[in-house]
Amino acid sequence: MSALEDRFRENNPRSLEQFEHLRESTPGGVAKGAYYFKPFPLTIERGEGCYMYDVDGHKYVDFVNHHTGQILGHGHPDVMDAVKRQIDRGIAISAPMGHEKDLCAEMCKRVKSLDRIRFVNSGTEATLHAIRLARGSSGKPKIAKFEGGYHGSHDAVEISVAPPIEKAGPADAPIPVAQTAGMSPCALEEIVILPYANLDAVARIIAANKDELACVIMDPKAGILQIPKEFVQAVREIAKKHGIIFIFDEIVGFRTGPGGAQEHFGVEPDLTCYGKIVGGGFPVGAFGGRADLMDLFDPSQPQGFGQSGTYSANPVTMAAGLAMLRALTPAAYDHLNNLSQRLKDGLNEMFARKGIDGVAVTLGSVFSFYFTEVKELTSYRSLAKNDTEMTHKVFLSLLEQGYYLSFGLGMCAICLPTEASHIDGLIEAIDKGIDEAKKN
Ligand code: PMP
Repeated sequence: MSALEDRFRENNPRSLEQFEHLRESTPGGVAKGAYYFKPFPLTIERGEGCYMYDVDGHKYVDFVNHHTGQILGHGHPDVMDAVKRQIDRGIAISAPMGHEKDLCAEMCKRVKSLDRIRFVNSGTEATLHAIRLARGSSGKPKIAKFEGGYHGSHDAVEISVAPPIEKAGPADAPIPVAQTAGMSPCALEEIVILPYANLDAVARIIAANKDELACVIMDPKAGILQIPKEFVQAVREIAKKHGIIFIFDEIVGFRTGPGGAQEHFGVEPDLTCYGKIVGGGFPVGAFGGRADLMDLFDPSQPQGFGQSGTYSANPVTMAAGLAMLRALTPAAYDHLNNLSQRLKDGLNEMFARKGIDGVAVTLGSVFSFYFTEVKELTSYRSLAKNDTEMTHKVFLSLLEQGYYLSFGLGMCAICLPTEASHIDGLIEAIDKGIDEAKKN
């Protein structure tokens, strides 16, 4: 165990106690997998603006922001007011209450490719229903996804998310690898895996499977890697050429500007999946796109496409999501994107000054940084040399210094109340964290 880990244990006795207690009743002491990090997760007391406070009395600048979703920070007054007003009217009512009309309109106004939208409870459900729509409307059985892309936890897509490279076949013809035990064996037969960063291979694989492919699903940031706009646009065109439905995964969406990732990348997908921000901090997913496809869900028509859910379009979620989206003005995006650029430049300069093999990657106000000599991080396999030990030590050092980042330092995010001083502080803390990691 490193000195950093020893100190972490000493400094966080109450969190440790909570963890030990939870271990008796939930696997690994975490109520969901993503809470876990080594040696044990912190139990948080409360969040406020860009800060979080833990049960041992530490204060953190939050750079996770609920897996990127809390773009306005914790307790933004617009969201809190909207939620409180809705709670007074009812928490769960089995009928529309008006917010969904405004949220659909707000999203369609912002995103050109959205004619129609449906709401669900998670990003996972959004991709599930979008894929089902693609299969049902095309009559074709297979889907294509990219190696390293994550689209949620249903069987159709939890494949080749982070496969061991020795099991994943050649880089230009990846083979499907189940991400977890217990998946339907059929799921592996119904998927085609595409490599990011190799357009020739993508064109070849899609052409070879075109008669069976219902859709190509793509996360344009791939966790967070530097996927060039031209690559995303070219994939969209290949799908179009073969008449295959192109599904854009924008579940980490509305992080670049008012029109979402598709505005940034310059593509018009057939269907788009959303999550996180559009629920204002409450469980949400959404999917939408072309009217001719989405109208297959029209329950007054006899097409046989069903889609619903007890908590889908819950009025509290709709009210919170609407308030959050409306607060995301062009000025808010300017502030967030400027901070993100400051962080990227500052980190890359610091890595160069220290002679460290490190790269910072940003997309809008989402960021990751990696300790690797590979500078062009454009595909899943380009991450193979990332120094995970260094990453973990820097992560622990940052916690000790009052900065809360994602375990693995990937998919971190900036929220609106963050100021330039927080960014400069984070850069300094990472600089110090690297020195600590080398010592420990
Ligand atoms: N797609 C992407 C790109 C995601 O980042 C995530 C979750 N982080 C999902 C899908 C799944 O969303 P959820 O966790 O809400 O099911």
